[in-house]
Amino acid sequence: MIVSNLADEFLKAEPVIKSIEEAGFEAYFVGGSVRDTILGLPIHDVDIATSAYPEEIKEIFNKTVDTGIQHGTVMVLDHGEGYEITTFRTESTYQDFRRPDHVEFVRSLEEDLKRRDFTINALAMTHEGRIIDLFDGLQDLENHIIRAVGEADERFNEDALRMMRAIRFASQLDFSIEEKTTIALKKHASLLKKIAIERIHIEFVKLLLGKNPKTGLQHFMTADLARYCPEFDNYMSELTNMAYLDSIKLSSEAAAWSLVIHVLKVSESDISHFLVAWKSSNELISNVQVAIRALNSILDKTIDRELMYETGLELLLTANEIATIFNRNIPIEILESDYEQLPIKSKKEMLVNGGQLIKEVGIQPGEKLGRILATLEHQVLMEKIPNESTQLLKLAERLASELD
Ligand code: ATP
Ligand code: MG
Repeated sequence: MIVSNLADEFLKAEPVIKSIEEAGFEAYFVGGSVRDTILGLPIHDVDIATSAYPEEIKEIFNKTVDTGIQHGTVMVLDHGEGYEITTFRTESTYQDFRRPDHVEFVRSLEEDLKRRDFTINALAMTHEGRIIDLFDGLQDLENHIIRAVGEADERFNEDALRMMRAIRFASQLDFSIEEKTTIALKKHASLLKKIAIERIHIEFVKLLLGKNPKTGLQHFMTADLARYCPEFDNYMSELTNMAYLDSIKLSSEAAAWSLVIHVLKVSESDISHFLVAWKSSNELISNVQVAIRALNSILDKTIDRELMYETGLELLLTANEIATIFNRNIPIEILESDYEQLPIKSKKEMLVNGGQLIKEVGIQPGEKLGRILATLEHQVLMEKIPNESTQLLKLAERLASELD
């Protein structure tokens, strides 16, 4: 197969591949970009694999950065772009079911493709667009099938993260998982315990954000992978319900976790503990807490302008996205226009600030100043007073004397 009309990302990298070939080595596009091109999907980053060793790559190009030299990856800088070039390698003796004990550089493309996870991810492409398909990945792409390269049993034993990758690709691409690969998922699910939670987290979010989360979640449950994820073992029946939801459509990580928290009925006070167990960032935890509060008020129809103001438009839309899955959302135009009508969207829009109150009203910095500012902000938000500095200063003066 020859791919015509190669995307710009490939064309831009062509001179890099040619330089490697001119130095007497092989180099190919590999991995997700090749798969996605054949599927007609947009591509993000192109990965290049080569028979040249890292030191040899560094001799060919003037500007390189050792981004992952111990795994054989060198970044080549060319015309303002960076290209990750990785030496063909095999990975041997996975004693702990996760990262290989060591990688061995090899000169053979076949050896490199053999250690890849699924046939659809084990395709290589020359700079002219010719596809090298040693494991019938093209046929699996055509038939929409995720199939392990070689023996699924062995491959999941070597690296248990591949099980999460299998189900996330099933969701992302809306593919089915081949039978032996499915059986191997069930057999080795418990090995997931050995995998770093951060890595499981990334795959699980990609699954939820995929095109068909239902299919990914059903494998997640039937293979019993969920049981070996943080916190999930207490929520198996709620998770099963989630795997039957038809209309999951999510657009952000915060939305993905908000759905999980909502379906599992994790209480507001337990959200932080739950997401910490999943090694989430503080930013994500705080966004989910805010979105869940908004979601609950959308669902029980108590949402008011104070909560809209505190939530902010982005997380309001996140909350509404979850409500949509249950057909209990606010029509998006109404939500957006209600938000637009708020007299201020944040503190920063207030036409007086602390500095002015100190200078012009003579209030001392401290707790009282904070209380006065908060009152002014609330009065403006509730349209009790216009956002106008003379009137705000006058009110501040009155509040200051009342509080004395
Ligand atoms: P994405 O679009 O999410 O980037 P991808 O297929 O490019 O998908 P990456 O994680 O970027 O996924 O990995 C690049 C390639 O490296 C894969 O296509 C696959 O060939 C190989 N690969 C990645 N992780 C593994 C793994 N755990 N085991 C075997 N091969 C892997
Ligand atoms: Mg990739």
